[in-house]
Amino acid sequence: MLCCFVSFRAGKAWLVLLAIFLITFMSYLMRCQWFPRLSTGGLKPRYMRCIENGSAVAHQDEDDVMFSADASESWTSKQPRVLEPRRRDVMTVTPWLAPIVWEGTFNQEVIDRIYRNVNLKVGVTVFAVGKYIRFLHGFLETAEKHLLQGYQVHYYIFTDKPSNVPQVELAPGRALTVVQVTKYARWQEISLRRMEIIKHTIQDWLLQEVNFLYCLDVDMLFHHHWGAEVLGSLVAAIHPGYYKVHRSVFPYERRSTSTAYVPIDQGDFYYAGAMFGGYVKNVLRLTEACHAALLTDRLNAIEAAWQEESHLNRYLLHHKPTKVLSPEYLWDDTKQQPPELKVIRFSTVIKNNAKVRENA
Ligand code: UDP
Ligand code: MN
Repeated sequence: MLCCFVSFRAGKAWLVLLAIFLITFMSYLMRCQWFPRLSTGGLKPRYMRCIENGSAVAHQDEDDVMFSADASESWTSKQPRVLEPRRRDVMTVTPWLAPIVWEGTFNQEVIDRIYRNVNLKVGVTVFAVGKYIRFLHGFLETAEKHLLQGYQVHYYIFTDKPSNVPQVELAPGRALTVVQVTKYARWQEISLRRMEIIKHTIQDWLLQEVNFLYCLDVDMLFHHHWGAEVLGSLVAAIHPGYYKVHRSVFPYERRSTSTAYVPIDQGDFYYAGAMFGGYVKNVLRLTEACHAALLTDRLNAIEAAWQEESHLNRYLLHHKPTKVLSPEYLWDDTKQQPPELKVIRFSTVIKNNAKVRENA
């Protein structure tokens, strides 16, 4: 009887051990992205494909990203001279002492010696919904040449047509995940839904997967180095169309009934909606705030003048960016290159809005 009881107990223990092993193994597989991602919040984008070309996921606390330049070697950089500003023709620091990044203001080698020392992973979100999928090939191909070269970059491509995502060869250490999303009928809706989808995606996976996150438009091409000098806590880019004009003509939302409202006598810079980024936690805070504001506006039956760009600008008025990118980092190809722009790094593709936008 006792013998029977013991073997029954032993049998049960084996079962429990087996169950624990299976649960541990399954959760390991899920973390390693070997299983499909089934949802991000209520929006149910669907994970389709993940191409990894390189090392494991980084888990870096943002506080670890210190200016820990490699001091062990004999390498030395040019001495910065306090009385010799690198640029005199443009503003290089905001009134709240955030750098404005222009060619000539930084030493790329110094920057790389700081950031390459730490095992950073940078996420890049790109939406290519409806006809905008046509821009994805050029975007990815040029990004592989100029965007954060030598760093671990993970592209998150949001599209309604996963099978049309082009195959682009990724450099070592880079990865690409395709997420299926719904195509909304109006282009404005597609554009403004990005805040909500990015928010859910950060909450569901990206907090665990990346240190920094940059959210970019797809109708763009990289032409020149767009490197680690863009990394910062909360980063925005000055809109190429409004950096020479008085703030009273910035295309902010001017109706006080909208949550994106900015009074006529306020505002620092007009920031472009085609790029924002920073520490993933800060991008989460930004997208949460903008999404909540967009919902409030929807309840009040008002849509801000430039959809999510208006909300972004309102947010950044009260949460000042810690780093500002000059229009080199986000140019508009319909404009002539002015003398203060020594280089064009990332620029819009000239597009026929009537042809590519839904219900334009
Ligand atoms: N977008 C998209 N499909 C659309 C409309 C917009 O994928 O039908 C995404 C895409 O990433 C695009 C971004 O939303 O780059 C912003 O829209 P758009 O580029 O038309 O705005 P603009 O830069 O012209 O203000
Ligand atoms: Mn665009």
